[in-house]
Amino acid sequence: MTYTGQCSCGAVMIAIEGEPVTTRQCWCRQCQKIAAGGATNNAIFPLEAITIEGERAQSRYVAASGATLTHEFCLACGTHVLAHSSARPLLRTIRLGLLDEGHGLAPAAAIWTSEAPAWAVVDPALEQWPQQPPPPSHPTPP
Ligand SMILES: [Zn+2]
Ligand SMILES: [Zn+2]
Repeated sequence: MTYTGQCSCGAVMIAIEGEPVTTRQCWCRQCQKIAAGGATNNAIFPLEAITIEGERAQSRYVAASGATLTHEFCLACGTHVLAHSSARPLLRTIRLGLLDEGHGLAPAAAIWTSEAPAWAVVDPALEQWPQQPPPPSHPTPP
């Protein structure tokens, strides 16, 4: 499967070959900052599957785990593109909103539900983790 997408202004374009390692909805406080108070919805892909063009800005913070998280967003329109963790350098967390309509991906799990606002409705059909779940398995480096 090939997934394609772009930011809201079209300056950043992405193409992804293959299927995600996992899909997740994240309710952590940092994601609420990005997602206007709600959760982010994400698909995690191997770095090697992703081709990306266009100028991005980055912001970084140190997570509770001690890993550094880097967020990338379009320099022109601010659309969030992806995130990655220093603990998992071969994976990229792609924001589902970036992908073109019809991608068919949906979260398989909700994580950091302990930080969700009181009004949040978390789909009971999803696997749920109050905090960070164990890391997804990923391809071994070449
Ligand atoms: Zn843009
Ligand atoms: Zn989060």
